[in-house]
Amino acid sequence: MQDSLLQRSLAAVWHPCTQMKQHDSAGQSPLPLLPIVRGEGPWLIGVDGQRWLDGISSWWVNLFGHCNPRINAALREQLETLEHVLLAGCTHAPVVELSERLSALTGGRLGHCFYGSDGASATEIALKMSAHYWRNVGRPEKNRYLCLAGGYHGETVGALGVTDIAVFRDAYAPLIRAATVLPSPDSRQGADASRIAADALAAHLEAHHAETAALIVEPLVQCAAGMAMHEPEYLRLARKLCDRYEVHLICDEIAVGFGRTGSFFAHEQAGIHPDFLCLSKGITGGYLPLSVVMTRNAIYEAFYDDATARGFLHSHSYTGNPLACRAALATLDIFEQDDVLAGNIERGRHIDARLRPLADHPKVRHYRRRGMIFAFDIDSDPGFGRRYYRAALKYGVLLRPIGNTVYLMPPYILGDAEIELLGRVAGEVLEETLTP
Ligand SMILES: *Cc1c(COP(=O)(O)O)cnc(C)c1O
Repeated sequence: MQDSLLQRSLAAVWHPCTQMKQHDSAGQSPLPLLPIVRGEGPWLIGVDGQRWLDGISSWWVNLFGHCNPRINAALREQLETLEHVLLAGCTHAPVVELSERLSALTGGRLGHCFYGSDGASATEIALKMSAHYWRNVGRPEKNRYLCLAGGYHGETVGALGVTDIAVFRDAYAPLIRAATVLPSPDSRQGADASRIAADALAAHLEAHHAETAALIVEPLVQCAAGMAMHEPEYLRLARKLCDRYEVHLICDEIAVGFGRTGSFFAHEQAGIHPDFLCLSKGITGGYLPLSVVMTRNAIYEAFYDDATARGFLHSHSYTGNPLACRAALATLDIFEQDDVLAGNIERGRHIDARLRPLADHPKVRHYRRRGMIFAFDIDSDPGFGRRYYRAALKYGVLLRPIGNTVYLMPPYILGDAEIELLGRVAGEVLEETLTP
């Protein structure tokens, strides 16, 4: 049964972010493909009953476990009420309530929600909205973008223009209108990394603000870069510079929103407000594709006009899908009813205490943590990540290092036994896989 499912998958499914040949069982140390039949809390359950602890929240989307009873119940009810309707010319309670509640979570500052499906579509929407805003206010020359070294904002062609990860971008370079890449405030570079990065931003804006529409950043943690963390100070400095030079600040919180860094939104820790906020991943608790770009009333009003073409005519077929919005509402309910942020303070401390001893290992560099993201770099060969991934699976934990960075980004529901397992496996696997 397992073999046939795997073979059929390899024959018919083109898996994402994968060199398919690496799954070929005839190859050298092939990567396993896991046949998952069921999810249960933080556990993924395989065809033959194997269990893997989902240490990376299924690519950073899952917040409250798989098959969460409360989200399931909300979806069942929604399924019997309204599965989908187009959002152009129609509206429905889930999308209205979600927009109101998300706006309230920004203190009402971001009063308008525009929906997409995946994270990359949110990036596209924010980029287009920013340039279109400048065009609508009579400054069409402001249409260039700034991004940070190592930044990741999705893999559609527009989003790749502001993504600085060569392996995702290089093959498509001829298709891309590249943004200017500025230094990252990555704290691993030293205590003054924020100031140095902000100085570079200031120098660039001084010369190029007239043609710059927006700066896009991943607040506090550049996840795809390998959990590169920076201080809130950088965001404060960047916000000031964007204000001074009339450039939009786009906060891409697709990965770091929804409590991941400790606060509900990551930018809150800097006490700033973005002009555009992109959310996805955890927004539905990891259930359904949904993304949103939130923006300020003043930006919305620049599109509000008698002329159709001054409107934001962007659309996706499933914009504001009621099922996805309902999953998002159930997710927000759990945040409120369970005081999740408070619970994560304890849970995060506990995980940190279990992992932190690894920082003393002679091959471990830069052990770091922000909220519910834990990471450390390994001084090893380039094959390390794949060895680590395979070995962790053997011990029943799903962990996928990024390059030589091991990270944990678990759902917000781990109990003591699961934390203990995660900590033990993270350390044991390290010893086992340091050398080829
Ligand atoms: C995952 C991610 C995206 C892209 O989201 P998709 O849903 O994969 O398109 C964009 N930005 C950041 C910061 C991400 O982590």
